[in-house]
Amino acid sequence: MEDIESLNFYDEVEIEDMDYDPDEETYYYPCPCGDRFAITKDTLRSGDCVGRCLSCTLIIKIIFDPDALDD
Ligand SMILES: [Zn+2]
Repeated sequence: MEDIESLNFYDEVEIEDMDYDPDEETYYYPCPCGDRFAITKDTLRSGDCVGRCLSCTLIIKIIFDPDALDD
């Protein structure tokens, strides 16, 4: 896992504010470049909270409660 203290986050986003695609089990959030940040549920479960844009280098920090991931 990366040292997240050393990363430059574009923004911090609550997971409730992200769009969830149940088919892909992936959370999405709009990126200013026009594409989307994406992070899978499995990635979040592993403790990684970095959402990466599919098209550019921006990243976001995702604020979430690991206990709330499993329905
Ligand atoms: Zn982007």
